[in-house]
Amino acid sequence: MRAVTVRPGIANSVTLTEVPDPSLSEGAVLVQAVALGICGTDREIIAADYGWAPPGQDHLILGHESLGRVIEAPEGSGFTKGELVAGIVRRPDPVPCPACAQDAWDMCRNGLYTERGIKQRHGYGSELFRVEPEFLIKIDPKLGHVGVLIEPTSVVAKAWEHVERIGNRAHKWQPRCALITGAGPVGLLAALIGAQRGLQIHVLDRNKDGPKPDLVRALGGAYHSGPLGDLCPDIVIECTGASPVVLDVLDRVAPDGVVCLAGVSSGGRDFPFDVGGYNRRMVLENHVVFGSVNANRDHYRQAAEALAKADPKWLERLITRRVPLARWQEAFERRADDIKVVLDFTA
Ligand code: BGC
Repeated sequence: MRAVTVRPGIANSVTLTEVPDPSLSEGAVLVQAVALGICGTDREIIAADYGWAPPGQDHLILGHESLGRVIEAPEGSGFTKGELVAGIVRRPDPVPCPACAQDAWDMCRNGLYTERGIKQRHGYGSELFRVEPEFLIKIDPKLGHVGVLIEPTSVVAKAWEHVERIGNRAHKWQPRCALITGAGPVGLLAALIGAQRGLQIHVLDRNKDGPKPDLVRALGGAYHSGPLGDLCPDIVIECTGASPVVLDVLDRVAPDGVVCLAGVSSGGRDFPFDVGGYNRRMVLENHVVFGSVNANRDHYRQAAEALAKADPKWLERLITRRVPLARWQEAFERRADDIKVVLDFTA
């Protein structure tokens, strides 16, 4: 079968190559790939800034945003041939740590977790892949191709769940306004969930035109491509990882406000920051700033619900390019107006 592979640690080693069919040890359910979403983490792995091959191997099959169709499932697995499915990304550490022992692998405490297509496990970027039934999610057939958005949606479903738990820590919290920074797929899906919660949504992105402003307005939200003035949200979900944006949002929330950092920065740059002034406001106004990564099984369920409630036409507009496997290189190019680019295994 063909697979998109990289040699972790060697920049630009990404290629489409023949690899053996997946081994049964990867899971009892055999899935035929339909689509694969491409994200910033894949580009980081290609640039050799991130990513690990399975132990004893020199290559990694890329891809963690999957969508496929079951072609073989053992009886009693809960899956049947023809069903649309997606694989969960992370696997718990083998120790297991207290978090992984409770299926909260997204909160793994010892760093020994593995991730398909990212950390020590082959990904979903191959014509066939296998998954353990307990790490496979059914996708509503009504969603069809946009089901490939389940993984990024699971990441923001977790972020929202934690924002709400933190906000409700002292009293019945009644947030009204949320700011999302970054209108990439993660930011827009975070905005979607915020709008579904009935919050007043603001989205900040550097793009002045293209499809993003309209997508935000279609959610009833306000789009900003410049300074935010005195906007003072109750919630921020930061999805850019850009230092100036992170600094700005740290200081912007209302009393009892919650800032969720969901964008991974590259680091290594110094920025002047008044720690004392920031500490003073954070203490006097009960602010919380926290980081959020990955998703557990329940977040995939929440993501499936959010996608099912969304306007399918809006979701379709998030997928700005579908690249056939034969032209796979194009899927990794960055183009103006790209939101989610998907590698199409059916074309
Ligand atoms: C994935 C997460 C993963 C994270 C860190 C993200 O792109 O969506 O599932 O945990 O990268 O490896």
